[in-house]
Amino acid sequence: MPIGVKVVERPVEQTSYMRATLGGMKRTIKHMFEQKVTTQYPEEKESISKRWRGTHRMLTTEDGKAKCVACGLCPSVCPANCIKLVPGEDEQGNRYPLVFEIDEFRCIFCGYCQEVCPEEAIHVGRHYENAEYSREGFVYDLERLMAQTHPVCELWDPADPKGE
Ligand code: SF4
Ligand code: SF4
Repeated sequence: MPIGVKVVERPVEQTSYMRATLGGMKRTIKHMFEQKVTTQYPEEKESISKRWRGTHRMLTTEDGKAKCVACGLCPSVCPANCIKLVPGEDEQGNRYPLVFEIDEFRCIFCGYCQEVCPEEAIHVGRHYENAEYSREGFVYDLERLMAQTHPVCELWDPADPKGE
């Protein structure tokens, strides 16, 4: 089968290096006077959505204990299987978490744990600066979850779908 060869002629009349250079300079100068959009992170930070789902927080009671009652709902619904809960019970029969850990590295930040929690104890937070040097560093234990202070995520409200 013969191979067809198509010769493309170079458009000589349009190849002006001077015109291309001037075009480039025009574009550069135009950008010099446009409003800057670069954010000087980390000195400057953009505000994030009220519904941003990031690093978790465990809220506490007035006497500083975790609000979690170790009901087991959040590890049950977690699609990433990244919540570890070992429940305990005191002499009065009150349940509390002996161990409560979230692996923020495996978490997909779906927010199900926050939605399902009957005590409004665990929340995804409006926070993203949680870089670590090791995978182990992403496993937040109860103490660390309770020590977080960033704002928590506002859940999606069907009456206000755009969050306005
Ligand atoms: S946000 Fe989703 S994936 Fe992450 S811990 Fe909660 S339920 Fe699991
Ligand atoms: S759903 Fe809430 S109360 Fe139940 S185990 Fe999870 S954090 Fe604790």
